[in-house]
Amino acid sequence: MAKREIALFGGTFDPIHLGHTTVAADAAKHIGAEKIVFIPAKRSPLKDLFPEASDDDRLAMIALAIAGEKSFQLSDYELKKPKPSYTLETIRQFQADYGSRTLIYWLVGADSINELPRWYRIAELIDECNLCIMFRAGFEPPDFAKFEAIWPSRRIEKLQRNVIQTPLINISSAEIRNRLATGRDVTNMLHPSVADYIHKHGLYQSKVKP
Ligand code: ATP
Repeated sequence: MAKREIALFGGTFDPIHLGHTTVAADAAKHIGAEKIVFIPAKRSPLKDLFPEASDDDRLAMIALAIAGEKSFQLSDYELKKPKPSYTLETIRQFQADYGSRTLIYWLVGADSINELPRWYRIAELIDECNLCIMFRAGFEPPDFAKFEAIWPSRRIEKLQRNVIQTPLINISSAEIRNRLATGRDVTNMLHPSVADYIHKHGLYQSKVKP
């Protein structure tokens, strides 16, 4: 039986924006993945910040943004867990569900590269799946030479082979939240149905947390 390729795309998606869906579609093409699974995170183990929208709102916005893209799927796996899931745990669960003939790819933007050494059991993660670093507007193209002191060359070469030169889309969720909180336009950054949802539910109106 031929191998299958599945790409997993984790993040807070607070909210999901056109940058996410554009690079995900490009990465899927590059990998030859039959699907991309969007996996919203409960809360980053590295950032001491709660997402500003509720889990249900973030799920609903992702569902709206990916509707119509047959190869895009949504998983609430991490949100259903009692505690935040480490990426390695999520990857292992998906690998177990899909079986050993499926190659798992995990997508990350280039803004995360400096944090990699702090990820939970990162060496195992790199060795067990295909960690793909995607280009991101405003950040240097991924370069792993700085990790030569901590990782063997085969690990660094694997990371370098899995770099994906995705289109540079200068959008971030933080910028969208800031713009909405100060009454500015975000039309070109969001899927129209996500923009409608945000307006209808009054999300991100104020920076003051309840
Ligand atoms: P925030 O501004 O709140 O930090 P974000 O826009 O970076 O959010 P996340 O939900 O944190 O969005 O991102 C999920 C994943 O998508 C991360 O790996 C991030 O690097 C990547 N990503 C987000 N926006 C882009 C983009 N415009 N181009 C490439 N990768 C992106």
